[in-house]
Formats: sequence, C-alpha cells, structure tokens
Amino acid sequence: MSLERERAEGCPRCGETTFYRAASTEIHLGEKVKWRCTGEGCDYSFVRIGDAVDTATA
Ligand SMILES: [Zn+2]
Repeated sequence: MSLERERAEGCPRCGETTFYRAASTEIHLGEKVKWRCTGEGCDYSFVRIGDAVDTATA
C-alpha cells in the first residue's frame, strides 16, 4: 500500500489533496489507517478503516 494518497475533495482546512499515512492498526473490521494532511502547518487528519469508513478527526 502506498504511503501517500490523493484525496479528490482535498483537506477541509487548507485544500491540500495529498495525505500521508501517519499510522495504521489492524482491527477486526480491517486495517485502520490514520492519514495526515501534508499541507504546511496543517495538522488535519482523518481515519479510514478498510475502504469504506471515513471519519474526520477534529
Ligand atoms: Zn490541510
């Protein structure tokens, strides 16, 4: 799996569309991956489980 991914809708804070893989954990639902924005000075991140769940962390 790639260490970076493009997200078409971009970061809600800075508009950056490239995110990097900050952490991943295996859970019963699949692989839980934390993606972090690469925008300068931006600390937005979101968590994705498998390919289905997308949870923004504020
Ligand atoms: Zn951002």
